[in-house]
Amino acid sequence: MAIFGMRTGEPRRAGVSGSERDRPGLRRAVLLTVVTLVAGLMLSVTATLATEASAADAMPAPARGCKDTPDGPRILAAYSIKDGELTHRKGTDCVAARQIWARFAELIPAERRTMLTRFELLTRREQGAEVFQNRNLRTWTLAVSQGLEPDLDYILIHEYAHLLTLGPEQVPPVTDANLARVSVTCPTYFTGEGCSKGGSLINQYVNWYWPVRHRQISNRDQNSDDIPRLARLFPRRFVTAYAATNPGEDIAESFAVFVTRHRRPAPTIIATRKVNFFWNRPAMRRLRSQIRANL
Ligand SMILES: [Zn+2]
Repeated sequence: MAIFGMRTGEPRRAGVSGSERDRPGLRRAVLLTVVTLVAGLMLSVTATLATEASAADAMPAPARGCKDTPDGPRILAAYSIKDGELTHRKGTDCVAARQIWARFAELIPAERRTMLTRFELLTRREQGAEVFQNRNLRTWTLAVSQGLEPDLDYILIHEYAHLLTLGPEQVPPVTDANLARVSVTCPTYFTGEGCSKGGSLINQYVNWYWPVRHRQISNRDQNSDDIPRLARLFPRRFVTAYAATNPGEDIAESFAVFVTRHRRPAPTIIATRKVNFFWNRPAMRRLRSQIRANL
């Protein structure tokens, strides 16, 4: 996943960011983490295809099942997104894909997801989700595995947190040709996609909660599939073990806990102070209420 920890001096990997694409072990990690953390808290997915019905009138109905074989392709279906509606582009147009997108669109307010222009349904083997920049660097793709229930809502909110914290308003896009230079000259937190703005959520979060020595440890461990070393060393600093992967995963996990937990936690340890990072911001509290309206 996350190609957006501190990557100073390293090339961006295939434009992937905010996701688990290159880290199958971490995909598993996020799923396990999520199961432990939110089992019993989340409502089951109730997305329906009602909103798709009128647009589908003139098109063939999507297949009910999306063929997913152990040695089949990783991407089962791909869609473009315009005005919140999917248009089928590749693979099999299937109900599972449209249900997952409908759930994301139900949870996340329309004006908050305008940077998403592609959606992909991934095979169950991937066991997770990811977001990554498209080639133009300003728009993004959301890719989600089939079969993530009952943790789908939590995972979708986690992925949205990457868009919230890494989107162009927070981290101005940088071309591949300029990325290495920017990674060295950036005076704020370099996310892997670019140089975060001084007042951005992730730059403030890193300044508060990620001392340089912790970033160095996470950089050294970035290719390990084990439980992150920081999670073992400092369990009270992180809301989940997966959050200790790097600052980008950490802020996404803290945001997902902020949204999905019923109550504001007392800021007695660093992990709960991180959740309060969002509680302390009125705009984030409003966003939480919007998302929770459909949880
Ligand atoms: Zn993530």
